[in-house]
Amino acid sequence: MIPAEAALGVAGAAGSVAALMTYAVRGRSATWLAPSVYRGSRREPRVALTFDDGPTPGTLRLLDMLEKERVPAAFFLCGANVERHPRVAAAITAAGHEIGNHSYSHPLFAFKSARFIAGEVRRAQEVIAQAAGAAPRWFRPPYGVRWFGLRRIQREAGLRGVMWTVIGRDWKLDAERVARRVAQGAGPGAILCLHDGRELAAAPDISATLEAVRMLIPRLRQRGLEFATLSSMVCPKT
Ligand SMILES: [Zn+2]
Repeated sequence: MIPAEAALGVAGAAGSVAALMTYAVRGRSATWLAPSVYRGSRREPRVALTFDDGPTPGTLRLLDMLEKERVPAAFFLCGANVERHPRVAAAITAAGHEIGNHSYSHPLFAFKSARFIAGEVRRAQEVIAQAAGAAPRWFRPPYGVRWFGLRRIQREAGLRGVMWTVIGRDWKLDAERVARRVAQGAGPGAILCLHDGRELAAAPDISATLEAVRMLIPRLRQRGLEFATLSSMVCPKT
């Protein structure tokens, strides 16, 4: 029989390993499984808007709003959504925004083989480059989950990992709550994460996101924060 104290010690160690692993896989500042950034310099009063899971038909409404407000953004596209809406993907780059790779089919990378992950990243890279006219230089994994092999895959594809400083939970919350949450987490150097799609939904309702962005732009500007491109805040080189 194992003495109670020793058993507790083993359980405690197992718990610590699990906590460390969870951090390595999902922690926004973790870089063990793949290097990434989650914020720019705190010295500049600038924030970067980023959108995941597009393109979708709703992206066009977002592009209109960003153009009127002269706000740049970075769009982390899913390859499968780009195949559905290639003209929307082209419109994003035509409007001068930056693009990133958000995998082909938005799978959870945990417990997947490096070969599977590489296939997802490369296929998205090809599809996006063809539709948008330029290959992405940024990568954000679905659900923010990194896994073994991703470090090398990112390096070989010339991609820099990008997490976020604050995520809006705009797939779940109403616009006011999303705006409040993002405004609270925003500050100099913040990378803000919202969604112009909902994973692989073909034409999702993104009105909460659009409304939240409409509210956030003046709110953050009032606080002296300027909207900047992701690459002006974070060097895209790996
Ligand atoms: Zn996503």
